[in-house]
Amino acid sequence: MHYISTRGETAPLTFSEAMLAGLARDGGLYVPQTYPALTREAIAGFGGRPYPHVAQAVIAPYLGGEIEPHALAAMAEAAYATFDHQAVTPLVQLGDNLFFLELFHGSTLAFKDVAMQLLARLMDHALAERAQRLTIVGATSGDTGAAAIEAFKGRDNIDVFILYPHNRVSDVQRRQMTTAPEDNIHVIALEGTFDDAQAILKALFNDKVFRDDVGLTGVNSINWARVLAQIVYYFTSAVALGSPYRPVSFAVPTGNFGDVLAGYIAKRMGLPVERLIVATNENDILTRTLATGRYEVRGVTPTQSPSMDIQVSSNFERLLFEAAHRDAGAVRSYMARLKQSGAFDLSGGDLNAIRADFDAFAADEKTTRDEIARTYRETGYVIDPHSAVGVSAARNALAKDARTPMIALGTAHPAKFPDAVMQATGIKPALPARLAAIMQGRERFDVLANDQAAIADYIRARARAARQPA
Ligand SMILES: *Cc1c(COP(=O)(O)O)cnc(C)c1O
Repeated sequence: MHYISTRGETAPLTFSEAMLAGLARDGGLYVPQTYPALTREAIAGFGGRPYPHVAQAVIAPYLGGEIEPHALAAMAEAAYATFDHQAVTPLVQLGDNLFFLELFHGSTLAFKDVAMQLLARLMDHALAERAQRLTIVGATSGDTGAAAIEAFKGRDNIDVFILYPHNRVSDVQRRQMTTAPEDNIHVIALEGTFDDAQAILKALFNDKVFRDDVGLTGVNSINWARVLAQIVYYFTSAVALGSPYRPVSFAVPTGNFGDVLAGYIAKRMGLPVERLIVATNENDILTRTLATGRYEVRGVTPTQSPSMDIQVSSNFERLLFEAAHRDAGAVRSYMARLKQSGAFDLSGGDLNAIRADFDAFAADEKTTRDEIARTYRETGYVIDPHSAVGVSAARNALAKDARTPMIALGTAHPAKFPDAVMQATGIKPALPARLAAIMQGRERFDVLANDQAAIADYIRARARAARQPA
């Protein structure tokens, strides 16, 4: 199994190489050469198995034999032992054919822990084998940074630099990043938006000298290994509701399109997924694209669900590649138009291919608040604003097809967004013990200008992998 770039201008890499690289050198994203198919019997066999066992079965075919089965098993065990629920990602019922997948039982209480805890171990393993050191630079709208810091803090061969938009993440999100005392963790509050942070990240990756000097890599949702780890819970949750003998649909709170892409890949692997519902907040580029065929960048509106406040969805490029029947030239031309004019129009064929699997719904701020209130009123269950965007979209989809079980992905614990929950329900979610500690810890971060050169200098001066000037 090798990995190719969606832009088609780099040589194929192995799994570990693609994981350690993050973004491809031609600016594209790595995708596997094929999607391994699981038989119905194999999928049915996941029923009742522990989460790490299913993870091993789903992930192993993507590794091309690079990692020994017992090593993968040990890493999956250790990664999911950091979760505080026996099932790792338990499913609860909210209504007729409406289910809710709790993905927030990891150490930062958001779904990014699911992938990041495994990624940190896979990377550490690959680096130890190569006797190599790397520098991770990540851009975060909140949760990715915290999850990366939790997963990578204290690791010997990796320094972590996290850029987040200054004053645009919640207090809890910021404290989760800034209270880690470990020396290999560096937190940068960027004077700009999440998209500015992401643009700087992309520019740093495209600076081949800088990239090689510091051994740059990324753990943003563009990293293939993260998408891979997220495929697992689509299988566990669908099987719990009767798959492969019964189809299910998923509603996914979406920002960078990594999570819902994992659901698409689960479908390509043989999971009977009826519909994939892209749920966006007011930053609705994907909902507009599915409705009109035009992918058009607009400004970012800050919302109650900041982890979905995006202008562009990086992982959408992977879906474009598939929709265009893996024509890298078509992807390059879409991306060139996006760069030039901030928009492109999907071809009729590509749009139809996407619509064959996906629907999309956007929830504005009032709809999100109303959904938190409604779910609480009807069930006594409290959801966070990101999850509420998903549940709202799930209800819209159920109105069209009430027969297929719908699984709405719960991407964050309500205690991470107490103000939004309070506003909608009048109650303040209790802070889990895991979070109480960070509300006391000393914060450590630097505020830097929205300036690529300044950020690059900052990283060079601190990264242990940085090549010293001769
Ligand atoms: C990151 C995140 C999302 C969006 O996930 P993508 O993979 O970027 O689409 C949704 N909700 C929460 C809480 C998140 O942290």
